[in-house]
This record gives sequence, C-alpha cells and structure tokens, in this order.
Amino acid sequence: MPQIVDLTGRVALVTGGSRGIGAAIVQALAEAGANVAINYRSAAADADAAAAKVRAIGRKALAVAADVSEASAVAKLVRTVQDGLGPIDILVNNAGIALIRGIDDLTEADFDRTIAVNLKSVFLCTQAVLPHMREQHWGRIVNISSGAARGAGGVGLHYNASKAGMEGMTRGYAARLVKEGITVNAVAPSLIETDMVRAGVAATPSRIPLGRFGTPEEVAMVVMMLVGNAYMTGQTVALSGGMAFS
Ligand code: NAD
Repeated sequence: MPQIVDLTGRVALVTGGSRGIGAAIVQALAEAGANVAINYRSAAADADAAAAKVRAIGRKALAVAADVSEASAVAKLVRTVQDGLGPIDILVNNAGIALIRGIDDLTEADFDRTIAVNLKSVFLCTQAVLPHMREQHWGRIVNISSGAARGAGGVGLHYNASKAGMEGMTRGYAARLVKEGITVNAVAPSLIETDMVRAGVAATPSRIPLGRFGTPEEVAMVVMMLVGNAYMTGQTVALSGGMAFS
C-alpha cells in the first residue's frame, strides 16, 4: 500500500501561498512531486522565495500576483498558471484575512472585504479550475477554513461567517462532484504560528491544551492526507491542539 502521495506530473495552485500555512502547503505538494503555482497578493519577495524552494527540489514553480476576491484577476491567474505549468489538478484555497473587530467597530466595508477574500474567492477559484478537473475526471480541492467556523475564536463574527460559509460550500461542491472523481474537503486549524496569529488575535499558547501553537507544516500534513485520499469528500478536518473537538 503506498504510504506517500505521489503527485508527479500534477499541477497545483495554492492561493496565498507566499507565506505561513500556504507556503508550507506549497512545499509539501512539491515534495510529493507536483509542480506548484504560488498565488500572492502583494508580497512578491516571499512568493519568489517559496518558488525558489520548490525549484530547489526539482519541481517547476510559478509565482503569480492576483487578488483572488476579484473575478477578472482569478480568470487571469488561472490562465497564467495553465500557460506556465499546465491545467490545474489540485487547488488549495488558502488565501484569507483576519481583521480583528468587535461588534461595535465592525464596519460594512470590513464585513464585505472579509466575505470577498475568504469566501467569494473560493467560489471564483473553484469555478475557474473545475472545467479541466471535470474533463479529466480527477481533481482535488482543499479549503483552509478555521476553528472559527464552529467556535467563537478571537477575530470576529465576520470571520466566523466567512469560514462557516466556506465549509458549507465545501459540502455543496463535494456532493455535486463526487461522481466526477473530484474531492472537496476543508481543513480547520486553530492557532497556527504565522503572521496572522503573531499580528494579534490576543492568542497565547497557554489557551491551547497541548501548550503550544500549531505549525504550518502540521496543517500541510492534513492537506496532503486529503489530496491523497479518493474516498474522503465533503469533510472538514480540524486540528487545534486539543482546544475543540468536533
Ligand atoms: P498569513 O496572513 O500568513 O497568510 C495569508 C496569505 O493569504 C498571504 O499569503 C496573503 O498574501 C494571502 N492573501 C490575503 N488576501 C489575499 C487576496 N485578496 N488575494 C490573494 N492572496 C491573499 O496567514 P496564515 O495564518 O498563513 O493563513 C492562511 C489561511 O489559514 C487563511 O485562510 C486563514 O484564515 C487560515 N487560518 C489560519 C489560522 C492561524 O492560526 N494562523 C487559523 C485558522 C485558519
């Protein structure tokens, strides 16, 4: 029985793949054999560094700037990846923002931006990659949700709503694509040590029963498990150091 996912010849796109959890997923996909497109919004140097690490292990990499909340940018992103690496077999919807707001300081603009970046982007990217996946009867889509989809978390209700919506969309796509060889799953991490957590969320490792933050590599391991498994679809896999059991 194969113990390691072999993605030789596959093309993956990781949104927000320039740093944090996304960068660890990029590396894990490349180590499994995939050629990887690294989407980023503005941090070109980080994306170039992630691409260099992929090339260092003999895979192809392409760093592509795009705001995944915009339909035209997503269409251009997917075209650029297809032209540079080939059609996309694996999509990891990882890009996200966590604007920390309370009930009283949450503005309509904050709400709209969060839903656009964290939720609408998943719809836009998924729709853009599906034609090729359906044609070849094989595809893997993994959405990076959050413990905040089911728990309160420290970011705000707009973030809760965006990630809960993402998990609903995960099930919706999974049910409709199950006969077409395409799996759609979500990973729900809590408190992974990245810029997002370092930038706020009033989080300390003492909140976590395990006694430490999770690592981006631990999230990437779950993503790889989902990419390698044809029978599992429509699921959300949580990892939270014992903070929540769902
Ligand atoms: P991060 O801030 O380090 O990385 C976020 C990435 O998303 C960056 O590469 C950024 O450039 C990209 N991005 C943001 N807006 C974008 C846009 N409009 N278009 C394209 N790219 C965009 O954060 P992270 O912790 O690595 O978060 C990655 C994902 O994991 C996010 O969806 C986040 O909500 C989720 N998550 C993180 C934690 C955690 O504890 N760190 C917990 C639960 C869920």
